[in-house]
Amino acid sequence: MKAQYRTLQEKIDNRIKTVLSHGGFIMGPEVYELEERLAEFAGTKYAIGCANGTDALQLSLMALGVKPGDAVFCPTFTFFATAEVIALCGATPVFVDSELSTFNMCPQDLDKKIKTILEQEELTPKAVIAVDLFGLPANYPELQKIIEKYDLLLIEDAAQGFGGEINGKRAGSFGDIATTSFFPAKPLGCYGDGGAIFTSNDELASIVKSLRVHGKGSDKYDNVRVGVNSRLDTIQAAILLEKLQVFPEEIKLRNKVADKYTLALSSLYSTPQVPDEMVSSWAQYTLTVSSRDAMIDKLSVANIPSMVYYRTCMHEQTAFKHLGKENAECPQAEALAKQVVSLPMHPYLSDEEIDKVTSVLAE
Ligand SMILES: *Cc1c(COP(=O)(O)O)cnc(C)c1O
Repeated sequence: MKAQYRTLQEKIDNRIKTVLSHGGFIMGPEVYELEERLAEFAGTKYAIGCANGTDALQLSLMALGVKPGDAVFCPTFTFFATAEVIALCGATPVFVDSELSTFNMCPQDLDKKIKTILEQEELTPKAVIAVDLFGLPANYPELQKIIEKYDLLLIEDAAQGFGGEINGKRAGSFGDIATTSFFPAKPLGCYGDGGAIFTSNDELASIVKSLRVHGKGSDKYDNVRVGVNSRLDTIQAAILLEKLQVFPEEIKLRNKVADKYTLALSSLYSTPQVPDEMVSSWAQYTLTVSSRDAMIDKLSVANIPSMVYYRTCMHEQTAFKHLGKENAECPQAEALAKQVVSLPMHPYLSDEEIDKVTSVLAE
């Protein structure tokens, strides 16, 4: 964040000053300008700002009418928010295994889990939340086939994947509705909390716009449904307008960093795979190693930070224990949770810094 701020300081400071002087802190002009830019970038008809990436998911599920008795399928190997919002809407999360090669939702296992839920006749399969984990888009071409077969709705959780692509189609444009997060550490981060929802569906867009302001109707004090208070701050939108300008270049830089890591490490470690038709936004560069703890120790002795995303699968979280394990057979995700470790990754890493990481790992 500091390296990025050094390159953008004057522009960002001016943007913030403009907001301070016009005083439109809530839903000011920068919010609408950013929404237009984001929709152009993602290639959707609408982008709608909100308070954070978790709210973006919750608003999406609310707009799709997800309710108690519904089953919503999501990967078990993800950040908690993906599954949390399903339960918040009163629906039941059903956890799907991950592919070892991409870390993303396994289409075959999705098909299997949907069949199981249909056979049990207790829940109604309603929607799938696919996650672009670590920046790599989920396998939408394969997932779409399954979702169409069972007539389900698709939500793309692009909190980490914004900036990624499949065959030139950008993350944020897959599914009926998509979400992202502007949490500072995400590929496109602001200086606080922020999020957005993407869709090309007129009706969904108008419901989300209403839901984010207490279910407003034609005016703020006419409430036509029960919503939430979840707007993107104008100051954050102003900051994001400047960051979005350099975002495509930053994605290229992230890819250069990833290529350098892979060149130095692929003969020694299991390095992340990007299918030919895809571009990753490299939210994380993640290795799978059996001796993870020893490696983290060696890195930390050399003052190199590393992180484990994620140690605990959703089906093993205390908050979801009550769901029982019978619908949550996810052996590959469990194996990943024991082996993943993420290296320093951002667009402004120098060659010296990359060399330091790779030489410690080579040792
Ligand atoms: C960060 C993240 C979220 C939540 O975003 P917040 O802005 O922190 O609420 C949701 N899903 C995934 C996959 C994330 O990485």
